[in-house]
Amino acid sequence: MANDKYEEAIAELSKLLSDKCELQGVAAAKVKQITADLAAAGDGFDPVERIKSGFAHFKKEKFEKNPALYGELAKGQSPKFMVFACSDSRVCPSHILDFQPGEAFVVRNIANMVPPYDQTKYSGVGAAIEYAVLHLKVENIVVIGHSCCGGIKGLMSIPDDGATSSDFIEHWVKICSPAKTKVKSDHSSLSFAEQCAHCEKEAVNLSLGNLLTYPFVREAAVKKTIAVKGAHYDFVKGTFELWDLDFKLSPALSA
Ligand SMILES: [Zn+2]
Repeated sequence: MANDKYEEAIAELSKLLSDKCELQGVAAAKVKQITADLAAAGDGFDPVERIKSGFAHFKKEKFEKNPALYGELAKGQSPKFMVFACSDSRVCPSHILDFQPGEAFVVRNIANMVPPYDQTKYSGVGAAIEYAVLHLKVENIVVIGHSCCGGIKGLMSIPDDGATSSDFIEHWVKICSPAKTKVKSDHSSLSFAEQCAHCEKEAVNLSLGNLLTYPFVREAAVKKTIAVKGAHYDFVKGTFELWDLDFKLSPALSA
């Protein structure tokens, strides 16, 4: 498909998507055809093929070669870790820490943040923590920050008056506003990029503090049945830091 056809297809796709008179079924068929044409015209990337071949590889190399492991996992899970990681495609904790299926109960979100206990605003995260702590009885919760985090950069970029322009992102990352305030005050002479790097770790500390706003985490921490740890993965340098919860680093428990 030539380039002008590609442009044409894009225009047609846009028109289709905005044309309210178009019958749904017809539109869906056209969109499917156009999408296929675009894939053929572009870099040849076929998402369906990618998913199929990815699963075929996993099944052949992992699933079928480890019947004992997958047999056990079919009966249940008892992961030792609950992990908070950023949604960033470069920082998958199972990949960088070599977690096998069944080892880590994972929550991923923008900038790997743990919001404070709030049954209305943050029920999704709360449900995951409650399940991990009370039902799976994980022994460790690890919050992993990372280098070049766009979410942290977004937090650090929010103007002092708190004005936001996104529907969700800035509101979400404001969970770690106290970390931003601390970094701006402690490291005012540093460049913006350096401040962001500090904030990547300070936000982890704030999240560790926020974990303790959940009564069941607090109780398990006091009983020492759970350990809470912070971490930072630097994918530029290829390093991984791990530290224990330190109240001194982050006195503010909630945003
Ligand atoms: Zn990130």
